[in-house]
Amino acid sequence: MSASRGTCCIAGGGPAGMMLGYLLARAGIEVLVLEKHADFLRDFRGDTIHPSTLEVMHELGVLEQFLKRPHQKRFRARARIAGQEMVLGDMAYLRTQCRFVAMMPQWEFLDFLAEQGRRYPTFHLKMQTEVTGLIEEQGRVVGIRGNTPAGPVEVRSELVVGADGRNSAVRDCSGLTVEEVGAPMDVLWMRLSKRAVDPDLLIYADRGRTLVLLDRGNYWQCGFTVPKGTAEEMQAKGIEEFRTGIVQLAPFLRDRMSELRDWKGVQLLTVRVDRLRRWYRPGLLCIGDAAHAMSPVGGVGINLAIQDAVATANILAEPLREGTASIRDLAKIQHRREFPTRITQRVQALIRKQVGGSLDVSGPRRLPLILRLLERTTVLRRMRTRFIGVGIRPEHVRTPDISCQ
Ligand SMILES: Cc1cc2nc3c(=O)[nH]c(=O)nc-3n(C[C@H](O)[C@H](O)[C@H](O)COP(=O)(O)OP(=O)(O)OC[C@H]3O[C@@H](n4cnc5c(N)ncnc54)[C@H](O)[C@@H]3O)c2cc1C
Repeated sequence: MSASRGTCCIAGGGPAGMMLGYLLARAGIEVLVLEKHADFLRDFRGDTIHPSTLEVMHELGVLEQFLKRPHQKRFRARARIAGQEMVLGDMAYLRTQCRFVAMMPQWEFLDFLAEQGRRYPTFHLKMQTEVTGLIEEQGRVVGIRGNTPAGPVEVRSELVVGADGRNSAVRDCSGLTVEEVGAPMDVLWMRLSKRAVDPDLLIYADRGRTLVLLDRGNYWQCGFTVPKGTAEEMQAKGIEEFRTGIVQLAPFLRDRMSELRDWKGVQLLTVRVDRLRRWYRPGLLCIGDAAHAMSPVGGVGINLAIQDAVATANILAEPLREGTASIRDLAKIQHRREFPTRITQRVQALIRKQVGGSLDVSGPRRLPLILRLLERTTVLRRMRTRFIGVGIRPEHVRTPDISCQ
């Protein structure tokens, strides 16, 4: 890609980067997405496609096609917290096109976005290209440096977008200031086989521990939270104690603990929660987890990344096409998306504290007051569903489709 006007180079082919790449190409903008991995096939990506993202697919006219990809529909998200079953969200309350969460392996979702992007001649995706640095000229970012199996590359573009996730290399090189919000937990991630008679609950939480079960058809993708920094200590104690912890939360899994023979099948995912004070500088914008790393609580990080991408395309497509994109346009994106981000991070922290934190391992086994209130009040139940299903300040696609012009 040359540094010609109206070009955009996106670091990272996750939900934020792929959706932005697709939307900009659809609007006729020359866009290059660089992804460091060779494919999208990784287990540790979240699987939740919420009603707000499905709404975006509908607005793009590809919802029907999208739902042909393998997925499970979740109309309600149920949990067992401190021994009590509760509905976390009942999507029937929503006024969206789809009143369910599509549980779809993220590789299917990203592959679908790549497939849609490729319909446009201005969409380019380069796998196995790891962004390692920024090219700057007179205080402005004018491109990126990266590594490929064939050797180093340099790409120049009018705008660079950092969408390379919570350990973003782009933001590390950018000099932008990060505010740590803090995440007191990490997640151990593993697979366990699934039986037809298994209960259909998403979350099991009790006495400081949480187990999340994502339905992948014939197996459960499981996430077990541990206090930050304690995973090594746990591993040193041996797998038996870990198995016991799982069975205490979800006794029906007892008969498949032999599948967890050792730690080889268990992957540690470090959680971080932070945000950039400023998401941009001349020639550069960060979005998604690169701008605000989200915790897994509520499973809303992917949605937020998609919403960032939609807002970015809405604000930037026209100025990029006209070659007039300015720092004021970049500021508009932060202005639009910062409020939903802050509120979401705050609510996530509150939920984590109530579900994981206050249910002390040694403390009395009781549902926290705030959860009891949330459960009993219809308005609060609906607000909770809206937070999970749609989020705060949902974005709508306003960019044109050049193939229809
Ligand atoms: C343990 C855990 C579980 C989670 N579960 C869920 C869930 O179920 N539902 C949910 O909504 N959210 C979940 N989240 C949050 C969610 O994963 C993120 O908020 C979301 O993925 C952010 O999307 P993104 O596109 O900004 O970044 P990412 O999804 O992190 O994508 C970044 C992409 O950039 C690529 N990349 C990284 N560095 C480079 C580089 N230097 N050069 C080129 N490419 C690079 C990566 O390979 C990746 O493809 C979870 C988070 C954690 C930590």
